Amino acid sequence: MIQLPGDQHITYQLQYRKCGKPTCRTCREGQGHGPYWYAYWRDGSRLRSGYIGKGSSEMGTSSEMSIILQAAAAR
Ligand SMILES: [Zn+2]
Repeated sequence: MIQLPGDQHITYQLQYRKCGKPTCRTCREGQGHGPYWYAYWRDGSRLRSGYIGKGSSEMGTSSEMSIILQAAAAR
């Protein structure tokens, strides 16, 4: 689990990632693996990002993600 800052505005994004393996069919024929949830926030002047978990393109948010969002909102 990544440490999300409690005093920063955090943006959540669903993204696909390529594993980089030349033999990987998923990356060659599609947009990559995923979707996975990533969090983005500012740390001073730097933009930081962290992997949160696997998403679901059908539901929009996975149950795991809902828990994380609730926890972030409760802070
Ligand atoms: Zn791949």
